Amino acid sequence: MPEGLEVEIYRRAAVALVGRRISRLTVDDRIAEADVADALPGCSFQAARRIGKLLLLDTDGPTVGLHFGMTGRIVVDDDAPIEELVYGSHRDDPAWDRFVVDLVDGGRARVNDPRRWASVTLDPDTSALGPDLLALTADDVRAAVAGRRAPVKAVLLDQRRIAGLGNLCVDEVLFDAGIDPRRPGGELDDEDVVALHRSMATCLPAMLARGGSHCGSVSPDVRAELPPCPRDGANLRRAVVGGRSTVWCPSHQR
Ligand SMILES: [Zn+2]
Repeated sequence: MPEGLEVEIYRRAAVALVGRRISRLTVDDRIAEADVADALPGCSFQAARRIGKLLLLDTDGPTVGLHFGMTGRIVVDDDAPIEELVYGSHRDDPAWDRFVVDLVDGGRARVNDPRRWASVTLDPDTSALGPDLLALTADDVRAAVAGRRAPVKAVLLDQRRIAGLGNLCVDEVLFDAGIDPRRPGGELDDEDVVALHRSMATCLPAMLARGGSHCGSVSPDVRAELPPCPRDGANLRRAVVGGRSTVWCPSHQR
């Protein structure tokens, strides 16, 4: 958290910045490159884009790249698109504002992050990122898993393969597609790839519409309580796969 879905919600909030000019920046230099504070005042925002978990704010000067770490969020004009992250703090402490943009029109945007793992870069290199989670073709999914000996769970978490999937979204699409997260990525056959792509194309927009990556079948509550599988009643399993806590159904995920 936040995964690509949350950053898409942030991006939509950041569209409100387009056309507005920066008057002043206040930056926690522990999360930003040294030149950020000097390069941006006077610039106007021109677009809010996103690749995976990276929010890109284009200006008529540099492009600002925002990574939100584990607990970061954006607040534009005091409108927080996500009031509280599932694993985040429930408070909005000004001491956690790591990047504050004051606008000429009196508005303000800020990145609030209790744990200070957010980061701000100028003109970030995005060439290593895979295709975005909300714009995938079946061929993208096929290319992402092809030849990979790592568990498909780990492959899908690799931002170089597909950009924007995090732990909750990966468990959700594998649950929906009926694929065991421990299977080596390269062992998925074409039927599996098509099913996985279909699950991504349906589950991810549906979760986004409901509020983010915590709004799927394998929700944080389900992960904590491990109720019977809603599809077939089998006992869900939880184990570390690909370095992350993973929940799946051993009955219908094969
Ligand atoms: Zn099941």
